[in-house]
Amino acid sequence: MKALVKTQKGRGFLEVKDVEDPVLGEHEALIRVKAGGICGTDLHIEADRFHYNPPVILGHEFSGEIVEVGKKVVGFQAGDRVVSEPHRGGCGTCRYCLTGQVEVCREKRAIGYKVDGAFSEYLSLPATSLHRIPDSVSFEQAALCEPLAVVVKAVLERSKVEPEDFVVVMGCGPIGLLAAAAAKAEGARAVMVTGTSGDEKQRLPVAIKMGMDYAVNVEKQDALALVNERTRGAGADLIVEASGAEPAIRQAFDMIKIDGRICGVGISGKEAVALPWDLAIRKAVNVSCSFSSNWTSWERALSLLGSGKINVDPMISGTYPMKEWKKAFGLLRNLEAVKILLVP
Ligand SMILES: [Zn+2]
Ligand SMILES: [Zn+2]
Repeated sequence: MKALVKTQKGRGFLEVKDVEDPVLGEHEALIRVKAGGICGTDLHIEADRFHYNPPVILGHEFSGEIVEVGKKVVGFQAGDRVVSEPHRGGCGTCRYCLTGQVEVCREKRAIGYKVDGAFSEYLSLPATSLHRIPDSVSFEQAALCEPLAVVVKAVLERSKVEPEDFVVVMGCGPIGLLAAAAAKAEGARAVMVTGTSGDEKQRLPVAIKMGMDYAVNVEKQDALALVNERTRGAGADLIVEASGAEPAIRQAFDMIKIDGRICGVGISGKEAVALPWDLAIRKAVNVSCSFSSNWTSWERALSLLGSGKINVDPMISGTYPMKEWKKAFGLLRNLEAVKILLVP
């Protein structure tokens, strides 16, 4: 079968090539891939700025249809429309595996960089990782389930959203946009998304199309002053830091209200980021960081998509055949697209 493979360490070394078909394990389902979302991580792997085990098929965000199930699989059958959690190889014996948090197990290897992923015609995955796609959700929409599950865990499960919340999402990449959509779906009073001048072409207008109340270019507008004005000087109730940019992380502590919540999901790529520690203590800020996704957040993400409370269509800038991956990667790198799907 054809697959998009990172063949060795270094910049580049990414190509569509013929690889062996996956072997179906007895606890696994063989899935025909219908759509795979390109993530910032995939761009980082191409540029050799992320950990990966080459040769490896990229792609960890996807949807597909089961073509065959292993002998010991119960509950799924050929023809089922599914998405899959990306976690493989959890040790099964640590505290995190035993409490259903395999996503933070030290042994975990994610598909798409540690083990073969979904930019391929087929892949075989444990049936226990699968979730059913609601009938009302297309394969294209379902391909965004993985990043949506990441923000559901971070924003809805770990930070929580209250009806009276003025929410600020810093950063308007796919994770920021989905975090904003999740906060809005949960009934937040108002949601502001921030970005920079590069985001004015695509991402900030998409935030408005998705129903957000404010989309602010922080290079042109004083986001802190706007939040203070709209909250009568109190500050934001919840800030989701999805940019990973040091000035934004620093500003979150100025912008948050006393006893407010800051939710960290954006990776900075730096060894350390300076924080206004004393201010955080005087304000009694509640900071919760979140990593990856879990079973409940996948079910909630699919439910939000199925009910139409979250519409990801404005985020899908295009769908390309896998052989045109270079063009798609280029558009994303130049911020000329928000999310692009590859089809095998
Ligand atoms: Zn991703
Ligand atoms: Zn474990």
